[in-house]
Amino acid sequence: MRTPPAPSDRSRHRVLVVEDDDTIGRHLESGLRGNGYAPTWSRTGTAALSEAARSRYDVLLLDLGLPDMDGLDVARTVRAHHPDLLIVILTARTDDIDVIAGLDAGADDYLVKPFSLTVLLARLRAHLRRRVVETPPREPVQLADLVLDVTARRCTFHDEDIELRPKEFDLLAVLALNAGAAVSRETLMAEVWDENWFGSTKTLDVTMAGLRRRLTEAAGGSARLPRITTLRGHGYRLEL
Ligand code: CA
Repeated sequence: MRTPPAPSDRSRHRVLVVEDDDTIGRHLESGLRGNGYAPTWSRTGTAALSEAARSRYDVLLLDLGLPDMDGLDVARTVRAHHPDLLIVILTARTDDIDVIAGLDAGADDYLVKPFSLTVLLARLRAHLRRRVVETPPREPVQLADLVLDVTARRCTFHDEDIELRPKEFDLLAVLALNAGAAVSRETLMAEVWDENWFGSTKTLDVTMAGLRRRLTEAAGGSARLPRITTLRGHGYRLEL
């Protein structure tokens, strides 16, 4: 195989490999490393979610058949938090329906196993090349009279900053990025806190109450605020 020029450390793309099969995982890890990528290998969905929450990645290579959860759920969760991440699904499932479900869950591309490393590397190069040109800065989101700038971590009301606690900001950000859609309590707990959180979800209620109070106080009575509807027994929805 032709060896591409060695990239500098700075330009190494970080790849999170999620694969429970030892042979495939090792093959991917060494193949990626040998071709200028910086791979990290997770064997379960839970480990992958916690790794994706902890560090910044450029690419997620995701097996669908994982021992602890469906890879599609991993794709959905990671996508909700990382809109710019390149997600490539690696699947032994060849049915169209699985491929469609994968793309609907937020994947950018897929490869059906068995695939060759050369093809995988070519796909990654093509996607990443395009991304350098196309990736727009994450635009601030307008929510009624509020502007939420996730990149800058700023929430402003008529250009005045609203001081939100970190978790309040994250909670608002997850709801805003899913505006119009119901977001379950479980998803919020996983996204905002930690997917390994087994404690009381009262934390979520307290943070939500704090978020609503801060927004109301900061914006005053007459302002148009984004409405966060409580969905009993499910979660919340930020209204469009
Ligand atoms: Ca598997």
